[in-house]
Order: sequence, then structure tokens, then C-alpha cells
Amino acid sequence: MEANAASSVERTVPIRTQTETDEQKLRGRNPQRSLLPKTQTEQVKILWKKQPSEGVVSVLNTKKDTSVLRLREFQTLSKSEWLMGETIDYYIQVIMKQCSQDNILYINHYTMHVILNGSPEQKSGFTMRGTDFNKVQGAIGFVNERQHWKLVYLHTISKKIFTLDPLVLMDVDMVQRAIDAFSRFFKMRRNRLGKQEWTDIKWMPGAIQHSTQKDGSSCGVFVMQMARHIIEDFPQVPDKISIKGTYSAVQAYRIEMACKILDASEPLNQFCSYCGMTKLGKFKEEPEWMGCDECVRWYHRKCTKMSQKEYQMCIEKHWKCEYC
Ligand SMILES: [Zn+2]
Ligand SMILES: [Zn+2]
Repeated sequence: MEANAASSVERTVPIRTQTETDEQKLRGRNPQRSLLPKTQTEQVKILWKKQPSEGVVSVLNTKKDTSVLRLREFQTLSKSEWLMGETIDYYIQVIMKQCSQDNILYINHYTMHVILNGSPEQKSGFTMRGTDFNKVQGAIGFVNERQHWKLVYLHTISKKIFTLDPLVLMDVDMVQRAIDAFSRFFKMRRNRLGKQEWTDIKWMPGAIQHSTQKDGSSCGVFVMQMARHIIEDFPQVPDKISIKGTYSAVQAYRIEMACKILDASEPLNQFCSYCGMTKLGKFKEEPEWMGCDECVRWYHRKCTKMSQKEYQMCIEKHWKCEYC
């Protein structure tokens, strides 16, 4: 195992104990080991076959904060799986970052659920206090209704709210519910926080033509693709969004989105693959890192649940992580 018991807590990334060329880093130090997969697609397929775990596969740094995506969440992108909200949330943030899109607010799936379908108690305490809606011209997010993902999009320039359901061409009831829910939400913020943002907008129902899903599991893939189109077209609203619904097309979308998620990540050797932390943060008292001898991943000693004694013993040995 490669180890670091650093003396200084100012260091923010693991430092290897020896200098390596980039190629050596990619191959690890063991000359016997096989090369890392050549393409991102191969890497995706390997990760999808692993035992599900809480390990971190991608870390995304944005201007606002840092997000992590865990293996079991990432694996819901694989064949015919029903997508977890965390994965959808993460992908949209990747797209926002790629498009340098600061004019659309991303509302995560939990928040969207509370605003649209939360209990009165949940709603009354939920004000998004730290958010300044006047800084953006739109907001986008997803809601899960009866195990089915739908997209919700607020576009202040046209004063329209759009709801896109991958199963139906136009859901009049849904868009009206969203208009009512958001109108109430902004009024509640005004009453509770004195914030006037978006309270004077008289929202109207909007419509975007779109293709519909052909199977029972690809609603997540559809809403992710819809969101990508919308974000790329902003501030325009697309008239029509075409998404191919055949089995092979949906699989191709899944792989392409998974590759994007891995591509967008901080380099694997720059964060702890258990907790995703790139900085020492709450592990200030824990400057020990361990590097896998078979891949480029690093771990906090504490995150691996290894005792000091085991750690010391492992330093002498060849150590491979759970991905290897
Ligand atoms: Zn960690
Ligand atoms: Zn490894």
C-alpha cells in the first residue's frame, strides 16, 4: 500500500510517496497488473458490474459547492434500472457546469417533491431561505410521482411553467398543479421571509412537444435528456424535444450520460473514494491516506475502517481497494 501520514494538515490532496510519471500513475506501481481500461465506456461497464456500495465514483466541484455520486446511485444508470433521484440531480449539475449555465436554478428532487407534493408541515417549513431567485431567469428540477419521473421547468422570461411527463404528450392537470404549488410557495416566502422574488409573476401553462418513452423504466433517462435540451437552449425554450425511445437508443443514452458523469469528475487520485472529500475538512485530525496499489484511488484511513495497527501493517504490503 502507498501511505501518507502527513505532518501538515494544510495539504489538501494526497501526496504520493514517490514521484511517478502519469503513465505509472495510471497503471499503478505493480508492473504485473493489467492496464486501466482504455475507454470511459469500458470503465462505466466495469463499475456497473461491481457490487453496489457507498463508494464515490465522481466528485463535481461547482462554483457553489461540491457534489458526490456514489456507486450504487451511479449503477441505476445501467440497463433497464429505474433511476435514483441522486443520479438525475448529479447529471443535471454536470450539464449546467458544462454549459456554464448560471441563469437557471437547479431544484433538487427532494425540494421539488416538497414544493409540489409535500405535507402541509413539510411545506410550511420549507422556504429555500438561502436562494436568491432574482439572480436567475429560470428553474428546473424533477419530481417523482408514483415511481415515475417528471420534469418541471419555470421560465421567467415567458412567465411560463412547463411540466414534461415522459409517458404522456401533455398533462394539463400536472402543469396546473405546478403553477398553483409554485405560486403558493413564492407567496409563503414573501409572508415568512419578506422576500418578493417571483411573487409578481402570473404564471401561465407552457407546452413543449416531446417524444414519449416506450418501456416501463426509462422515465429517468427521458427527463435527463429533456433537461439537457432545455439547458442547452436557454434562454430560448425548445418547441420540440426528440428523444429516441428504442431499447438500443435508451442504452446508448445511459452509457453516454454515465461517461459524462465520470468525465466531469475531479481526478480519481484527488479525493477519498469512500467519502468523496478532496480536502481534509472534518478529517483534519486524520491526515492518513492510503493509495490502492492496483488503481489510482485514494482513501482516508478512517474511511476504510482500518485500525492504526492494521494500517501500519498494510503499509508494508500490497493493498487493493474494493474496486479492484
Ligand atoms: Zn474519506
Ligand atoms: Zn483500487
